[in-house]
Amino acid sequence: MGVGENWHPIFLFILLCYAKVVINSCIIMLNLKDNPTLKDFQEYVKKLEVERGFHEESVLQKCLLLGEEVGELFKAVRKRDRITRVDPGSKISLVDEELADIIIIVCAIANRLNVDLEESFRNKEEINKKRIWK
Ligand SMILES: [Mg+2]
Repeated sequence: MGVGENWHPIFLFILLCYAKVVINSCIIMLNLKDNPTLKDFQEYVKKLEVERGFHEESVLQKCLLLGEEVGELFKAVRKRDRITRVDPGSKISLVDEELADIIIIVCAIANRLNVDLEESFRNKEEINKKRIWK
């Protein structure tokens, strides 16, 4: 006799519905809102880190990754502007992609340090506005 051979169809239906609810609650839906705020970006990054298994990485690890991404941005700019010769065999991403990577890492660092980036941006800009640029 196979498993579930004598199970009532209604019981099987209820069991499948319950399993679907459990599975859906375990799957994190990654969806960045239209017109996202910085807080929305931070929330999105928090979810993507869990989904991709990066959430255990430390601030220091993220800072090292940020440095790497900044280097990739520099290389992409170097290629775009033909500042120096580039190895044609090396993988070089586009400037916009590297900027996006940097935003992701910055959000990841801010999340670990409980920094609200929008608030920080506003506060720092108030300081910057008072500076004299010569
Ligand atoms: Mg990159």
